[in-house]
Amino acid sequence: MTFSSINPYNQRKLNTYRADSIASIERKVKQADRAFADWSALSLADRIVFLRKVGEYLTANKQRYGELMTAEMGKTLREAITEIEKCAISCAFYADHAAAFLADQSIESSDGPAARSVITYQPLGPVLAIMPWNFPFWQAMRFAIPGLLAGNVGLLKHAPNVPGCALAIEETFRESGLPDGVFQTLLVDVPVVETLLKDRRVKAVTLTGSGRAGASVASIAGSQIKKSVLELGGSDALIVLADANLEKAAEIAVKSRMQNAGQSCIAAKRFIVEKSVKKQFTELVLQQIQQIRQGDPMNDATTMGPMARLDLADNIERQYRETIAKGARLITGSKGSAIQRSGCNVQPILLDKVKPGMAAFDEETFGPLAVIIEAKDESDAIRLANQSDFGLGSALWTQDMDKADRLARQIQAGSVFINGLMRSDARVPFGGIKTSGFGRELSEAGIKEFVNVKTIWVE
Ligand code: NDP
Repeated sequence: MTFSSINPYNQRKLNTYRADSIASIERKVKQADRAFADWSALSLADRIVFLRKVGEYLTANKQRYGELMTAEMGKTLREAITEIEKCAISCAFYADHAAAFLADQSIESSDGPAARSVITYQPLGPVLAIMPWNFPFWQAMRFAIPGLLAGNVGLLKHAPNVPGCALAIEETFRESGLPDGVFQTLLVDVPVVETLLKDRRVKAVTLTGSGRAGASVASIAGSQIKKSVLELGGSDALIVLADANLEKAAEIAVKSRMQNAGQSCIAAKRFIVEKSVKKQFTELVLQQIQQIRQGDPMNDATTMGPMARLDLADNIERQYRETIAKGARLITGSKGSAIQRSGCNVQPILLDKVKPGMAAFDEETFGPLAVIIEAKDESDAIRLANQSDFGLGSALWTQDMDKADRLARQIQAGSVFINGLMRSDARVPFGGIKTSGFGRELSEAGIKEFVNVKTIWVE
């Protein structure tokens, strides 16, 4: 069996990679198991030295890896290089803070039977990471950096359309000097995941991807009593209240929606706008969208690349068609019921009059499709934002900070960004509620997902 990478911009085949055989999977799992014993026995300070080298290696190779990412999945080269830089910054962040995050905690007890108790954070072992193609480096690294620092080792099953990136991530750890087996890529397909999850040497799993994949992986992990973290899709609301800075809100809304050709779990997928400013906001959004230059992602002048796969572009076209058929109004980006599209190259679309019951409201839209939803007032805006099966990120635009604080607490999501771009950042926890998943990545919460929180009680 082989995996082929295809340039989504022009559909040219890039490369073919041979899948891991059963024997090579067994060899890698065995190696991970052995590597864990030595890696977890190192001091945290030693592991930190290695992870700093990973960050330096990424920085030194950002152009090469950026080009690989752009070729395989179509994000612009500028976006790709920024992604590698973000991985490097996060290596430095965790290198600086891991000791504080993982420090033993002493609990002095004067009134109980324990004279003293200590909480320690110990690694679990090999963790399987199942990752998607939309941020090929960042999705994998945001698990790997804290996971490895905590003393775990990683096995990566990446998406089949980014095999070159999958191997480049393994190369990064190897070339940075990490011991063999601490981080390995497996070029395998989905049926192998079940075998891996049922292997006693694999201790836990993290998955970023669709709800369908998450439900399957978590149920197998659950049947084995193994920990799972799921970072699934989202349909993030971006709420614009009447007193918002509309120019800034429109600029960031379009950036949030259209970056990575709209293929981000935390893209602003539903612009929910108070009625009194809807017309003005829509015009500002349209102006921003008209500045987007879709095209060859290697070209400096391009601001939006192609979508990553033909089936993903087909899906956004279906969602567009179904939404229009239910009464939404097209503002730009298409003609009639067909979107302006050539293969994976999809022009940005803006729809108005989107409501619950339409595909673009109810489903995750993973492509350059922006929608305007009218809210009567602020409480209607919150009601609409929460009328979703998803609960990943969200954004709220208002200049009244008391109101912002009050409303942020009413939004059902893993995070609310006020007057700013919703993003993942190593300093703060990242993850969702409802069907957006469970568990947290990044920050102190993320490094503590794959550890044994061990109590040592001394009488
Ligand atoms: P998938 O969820 O199918 O793929 C993500 C990863 O999960 C891939 O490595 C995939 O491998 C793997 N996977 C899929 N099914 C299983 C399974 N049953 N058991 C184990 N692993 C599995 O996403 P798609 O690429 O097909 O995209 C479909 C939609 O999912 C998108 O349109 C978007 O809505 C959402 N999505 C959300 C992402 C996010 O960042 N939250 C990222 C990617 C997609 P394989 O491809 O070999 O099946």
